[in-house]
Amino acid sequence: MSKHLTKREDDYSKWYNELVVKADLAENSAVRGCMVIKPYGFAIWEKMQAELDRMFKETGHQNAYFPLFVPKSLFEAEEKNAEGFAKECAVVTHYRLQNDPDNSGKLRVDPEAKLEEELVVRPTSEAIIWNTYKGWIQSYRDLPLLINQWANVVRWEMRTRLFLRTAEFLWQEGHTAHTTRTEAVDEAKQMQEVYATFAENFMAMPVVKGYKSNSERFAGAEDTYTIEALMQDGKALQAGTSHFLGQNFAKAFDVKFTSKEGKQEHVWATSWGVSTRLIGGLIMTHSDDNGLVLPPKLAPIQVVIVPIYKGEEQLTTISEKVAVFVKEFRKKGISVKFDDRDTYRPGAKFAEYELKGVPVRIAFGGRDLENNTVEVARRDTFEKQTISQDIVVNFVENLLEEIQENLFKKAIDYRAEHTTEVNDFKEFKKVIKNKGGFVSAHWDGTEETEDKIKEYTKATIRCIPNDAKEEAGVCVFSGKPSTKRVLFAKAY
Ligand code: AMP
Repeated sequence: MSKHLTKREDDYSKWYNELVVKADLAENSAVRGCMVIKPYGFAIWEKMQAELDRMFKETGHQNAYFPLFVPKSLFEAEEKNAEGFAKECAVVTHYRLQNDPDNSGKLRVDPEAKLEEELVVRPTSEAIIWNTYKGWIQSYRDLPLLINQWANVVRWEMRTRLFLRTAEFLWQEGHTAHTTRTEAVDEAKQMQEVYATFAENFMAMPVVKGYKSNSERFAGAEDTYTIEALMQDGKALQAGTSHFLGQNFAKAFDVKFTSKEGKQEHVWATSWGVSTRLIGGLIMTHSDDNGLVLPPKLAPIQVVIVPIYKGEEQLTTISEKVAVFVKEFRKKGISVKFDDRDTYRPGAKFAEYELKGVPVRIAFGGRDLENNTVEVARRDTFEKQTISQDIVVNFVENLLEEIQENLFKKAIDYRAEHTTEVNDFKEFKKVIKNKGGFVSAHWDGTEETEDKIKEYTKATIRCIPNDAKEEAGVCVFSGKPSTKRVLFAKAY
């Protein structure tokens, strides 16, 4: 396989697929639509998980685990949810294989071992969880119930892409139960806020916070709050969703509580999730034609040190000096790797870490020994500087922060350049076709118009921004009156 990546402007989607594989993040597997996440990719996921998990716990949530399988009768109970997911469900019908019954050398499904009730492999866990909550919630004292689970889910997607859309994916799903509508709505909005903070502060990925139109809403929700990001090819990515579920699941599973006043009431619910799709978003927000670019806060290796030496003796001297830096970096919680492999030349190592998006590279050579210096190179701008060894640790600590900020700023600028206010449909089509990005336009609020716009342009309503101003206008398509602009884009 060639070391060079396809250029983004030549074929963005080819660039993405090559990058995921060459940077050793993930690969396709023997199962259609399901990926193998390799150690380097999984290390990024673990960093995301650690941070999100901390944020969930800070906001009062606890982790638990529920089964992978959902009996079909439970899955059906909330009709809208079941209907929405039905076409993507994997279903278990048998529980045994027969060993070579007709000497064909093959295993066969044992027709005798048909399940009495089919099991749906969870595409999302509301059904199994609300069926369980029935036993956990009796009184207002049992509420709020604030639970999260880290799990895998299966949605039989027809068109899959590594990380962005896979048939099996890893995610977290929060499922909370409350005494009032207001409390549940506040919870759903709070988690949207948590996701936005994570996306911006850790992924350096700016997001628009908003809510979904009817047609894009989660099946079974009353409202879906979303964070939407813009990728470098001008397409939007739904990066996380938080749903206000009303009393739909409580009614479907008969989950009631006795209020302070002694009345029996149905419980109010939320659910919220982000998935391994975030890794796809991270890649598509920052990376370049040379490979991955990672924001320091999520980089598995933040600093790599590469020795450039002639002979064993010089390597020993360099290694001794480096050992001191490594210790200091670790004390500061900075993850550092000293790559002293003698099986690769420095140039090959440089190329590898560039492809893998390591934010800072330190080269330490023979001349640096004489001059008490090192060469520090940053991945985001390729700038190199010669720095005194005496200050290198503090210098790099600051540099990591600067890189984090620079990536965020670059992404914000890109989004600003690719958000266009549009007032007529001809212009709308032109912008979507030639420039891409978010188009901010008036919409008459009907599904019919939304469908038509999608039919003509492939753009969908990504969200109605939380902070959309009230503004008298006319729908970009139908000319009917509208009070706010919504954001359209082609999306992943
Ligand atoms: P949902 O339960 O549909 O609201 O989805 C929760 C989160 O999972 C959202 O952030 C979605 O963007 C993400 N997601 C949905 N489908 C997939 C998929 N096939 N692969 C990866 N992530 C997904």
